[in-house]
Amino acid sequence: MATRSACKRRSAAERFPEQVLPSQTPPCRRHVGSPLLTWLRVLRHTTGVLCSCPRHSRTREPVAKVPGSLLALVLFLIAGAATAETAREIQVVQIRLSMSNAYLVNGSSRPVLVDSGSRNDLPRLGEALAREGVRVQDLAAVILTHGHADHAGLAAEIRRRSGALVIAGRGDRSMMNTGANDPVTPTSFAARMILLLPLDDRYEPFQADVEVDDELDLAAFGLPGRVRTMPGHTPGSLVVLLDDGRAFVGDMILGGWLNGAVLPQRPNEHYFHMDVARNGANRAALARQPIRQYLLGHGGPVSRESVRAAFRLDGDSGGEAAVAAPLNPAINARGQAVAND
Ligand SMILES: [Zn+2]
Repeated sequence: MATRSACKRRSAAERFPEQVLPSQTPPCRRHVGSPLLTWLRVLRHTTGVLCSCPRHSRTREPVAKVPGSLLALVLFLIAGAATAETAREIQVVQIRLSMSNAYLVNGSSRPVLVDSGSRNDLPRLGEALAREGVRVQDLAAVILTHGHADHAGLAAEIRRRSGALVIAGRGDRSMMNTGANDPVTPTSFAARMILLLPLDDRYEPFQADVEVDDELDLAAFGLPGRVRTMPGHTPGSLVVLLDDGRAFVGDMILGGWLNGAVLPQRPNEHYFHMDVARNGANRAALARQPIRQYLLGHGGPVSRESVRAAFRLDGDSGGEAAVAAPLNPAINARGQAVAND
C-alpha cells in the first residue's frame, strides 16, 4: 500500500534542509489525499471502527474504500481526544532480544513496539512483554526502524497474531518484500570479518501496512511524537522522535562493542551502513535537534552529550553533515539509490 506520496517531499525538504532527502517531485492532484487516508487508516485501527485488519475483520480492504465525511469527522474528533491526552508520560521499556533491542512504548492508547527482533525471538519477546502486563495481541503497531533481519524479522508474525499495523520506511520495501538483507558497506576491519560469518539474514517476507516516505504523526497511537525517514543505514531507515526528547534511531549508532555487550552506553559507529557518509549526516542533523536520549538497536541508551563527544559534533555547523550530502546518491521514489547528476 503506497500511503505517502512523493508530493510531500517538497515540504519535508523545506522543513528539514539538513537532511538528505529523496529526489524532489512537485505535488500532484492524485496524491494530495494520501496522507489523509493514511491518517484515517491508523485511526480506524486504533479505535477498531471499521478497521479491516485481521484483528478487527476477516478481510483487508483498500484504504480508498473508507466511508465518507461523517466517519472522517468522527475519527478526527477521536484523534483530537487522543492528542489532548498526550501530555501523559510515555513509558519506554527496552527489550533485549537475541541480536537486537526492541522497545515497548506505552502512551495514552494501546502499546506500540519499536522494532520486532529476529525471527526466532518470539518466545523471548513474549516473556518480556508479559513482564510488563502486555500480550503480543495487545500491540497496536510495530514501527520498524529499518528492514534488516534482526529488526524486522518478527513483524509478519506479530501482525498475524495481533493485527498490529506494521509501519516501515518505503525505501526498505524490497528488503521486506523478499525477507532478506540488502548488501551493506562495512565500516571497519572487524565488520569485514563479520561479513565472512554465515549470519542468518533471512526472515518471513511481508508488506508494510503503512509505508513512510516523509513523516508520520503518532498522535493516533496516543504518542506525542513522529516517525521520520532518514535514509542512511538502509534506504528506508526511520527514526522515531518523541516530543519528550527521546529518539529511537535503530542502527544509526551502535551502543558499545560486541553488539552492545561491552560498554553499551558508549556510542560507536555501527558495523554496517548502506551509505556511511549519509548515516553520519543524519546523525549530525539529529544532534541539532532537542534530543536528550538516543535509544539504539544494539546496546544503549546513550546521552546527547556522549553522542556529540563520540562523533565530534560540535555546535550547529555539524561537520559531518556539511560534507556528506554531495557525496551521497539520491534515493528515488522506490527507495533505490541513483547516481547524482
Ligand atoms: Zn541494521
